[in-house]
Amino acid sequence: MEKQKKAKVYLVGAGPGNKGLITVRGLELVRTADIIVYDRLGTAEFLSEAKDGCELIDAGKTPGGHKMTQDEINEVLYKKAAPDKILVRLKGGDPLVFGRGGEESLYLAERGVESEIVSGITSAIAVPAFAGIPVTHRGINTSFAAVTGHEAEKPETATDYAALAKLDSLVFLMGVKNLSEICENLIANGKSPDTPIAVIERGTTPQQRTLVSTLAEMPALASKNDVRPPAITVVGETVRLRKSLAWFEKSPLFGKKILVTRMRNQAGKLSKKLMELGAEVCECPLIKIVSKMSALDILKEKNAIIEASFLIFTSSNGVELFFEALLEAGFDGRFLSGKQILAIGPATAESMRKYGIIADYVPDSYVAESLLPYFEKIKPAKVLIARAEQARNVLPEKLAEMGHQVRIINAYKTEPESSYLKENVAEIRDGAFDLATLTSSSIADSLADFLEREHLDPDLLPVISIGPITSERARQRGLKLLGEANVFTVDGLSEMIVQTLGRSEPE
Ligand code: SAH
Repeated sequence: MEKQKKAKVYLVGAGPGNKGLITVRGLELVRTADIIVYDRLGTAEFLSEAKDGCELIDAGKTPGGHKMTQDEINEVLYKKAAPDKILVRLKGGDPLVFGRGGEESLYLAERGVESEIVSGITSAIAVPAFAGIPVTHRGINTSFAAVTGHEAEKPETATDYAALAKLDSLVFLMGVKNLSEICENLIANGKSPDTPIAVIERGTTPQQRTLVSTLAEMPALASKNDVRPPAITVVGETVRLRKSLAWFEKSPLFGKKILVTRMRNQAGKLSKKLMELGAEVCECPLIKIVSKMSALDILKEKNAIIEASFLIFTSSNGVELFFEALLEAGFDGRFLSGKQILAIGPATAESMRKYGIIADYVPDSYVAESLLPYFEKIKPAKVLIARAEQARNVLPEKLAEMGHQVRIINAYKTEPESSYLKENVAEIRDGAFDLATLTSSSIADSLADFLEREHLDPDLLPVISIGPITSERARQRGLKLLGEANVFTVDGLSEMIVQTLGRSEPE
């Protein structure tokens, strides 16, 4: 994006909290911003999208630790705005729906700083929608109003309940504290005590919770269930449609909290899949790559690579690190021409494709041994295996027994990582996670070591494994194994998680 010539502030709506609910323009700005001044509500999912070096300013806090006043926020925006800087003011929902975006924009305009308003999806509409409540429905209502449930500061802006009670549907924001008054006032002004009402807490997120009742009974229900902000309150007949239209809470993994333990560079696909299925995902890598092969290693192994007739990759990481080193050494895929190149597992084969290599063979089962039958038919040959330093030795040993000349290239080395898990130790102790995913034996070891060190009962964090080798290690290490993927891929693992945790009957 081109930087503007004059100082400018982008007032960007982040939507109500669900990562999918930001506009294309909004996300583009977040990704290119030099400075982001953000509110807490609805923005958390997007801060990780900011580029390296982006200055993140929490408008909820001053350096002294107290909440920034609106005047202080205005001043920060004005001071930070600069001609060559992309300054994003990121707000929950839509910036102009009870977001004080108008005030900020005015303050800047008065001082000669332009703003661009990037509309967001307001919680007033999206949160009811995620609870299966349309704000309008033909034949049921002809209007709806978005209302603040905050007590008015001045009498002239006090809520006019007599007028509101005449409207079909009402959506209250910031209404948790005054819920009883809202219900009482609407009844006192003529709304039937039986009017349906829904309160939706943390809508559009995996923690969404919806209570449905009547105007007369909601205050008691809400207080019994300890409803807390942020919540949206919807009053009106369309609330009844929720019975047929609720969809989000029926996602197979809705309400489930899953710990994804893969390495950072690989976790994304699995996490995304689990989130699409409705789960709340916490990424805590349990191993990290500590050393990678280099161009020098390629040069050292140059003859061995040239002479080998077979090259085997056992993981995506192995593929990526081998090819990056190869490219750095000044070679490309042509250097491997004439060899048969094999991949264990479709993800490994997929990574090869990115470097222009189509696997000659991918076994049906994705463990190293599954390649052995393929080699039984082959005359003794030179076989090169590029893999992690601590990988199991079954494959090279068996190939050697068959008479093949095996050479191993250590593409990378991993070590256990526990810092991320450590941050979540209190939650693990509370049993907050429904399960953790295990995608390799070394991850199983790392998890078992961590639980032992922290004196945590393995029952507190049950696991699902990606395949038989990982399962065996999990059992040996005393982890509580709930299941094993039938197909050893991310999709297979997700499917097994749904089978194990998923709701068979949506409520
Ligand atoms: N500009 C925001 C509203 C800010 S006022 C918007 O357009 O959505 C803050 C209020 O928004 C909260 O008190 C709550 O009523 C509502 N809200 C925002 N996000 C919400 C969410 N995920 N679930 C329920 N209510 C939400």
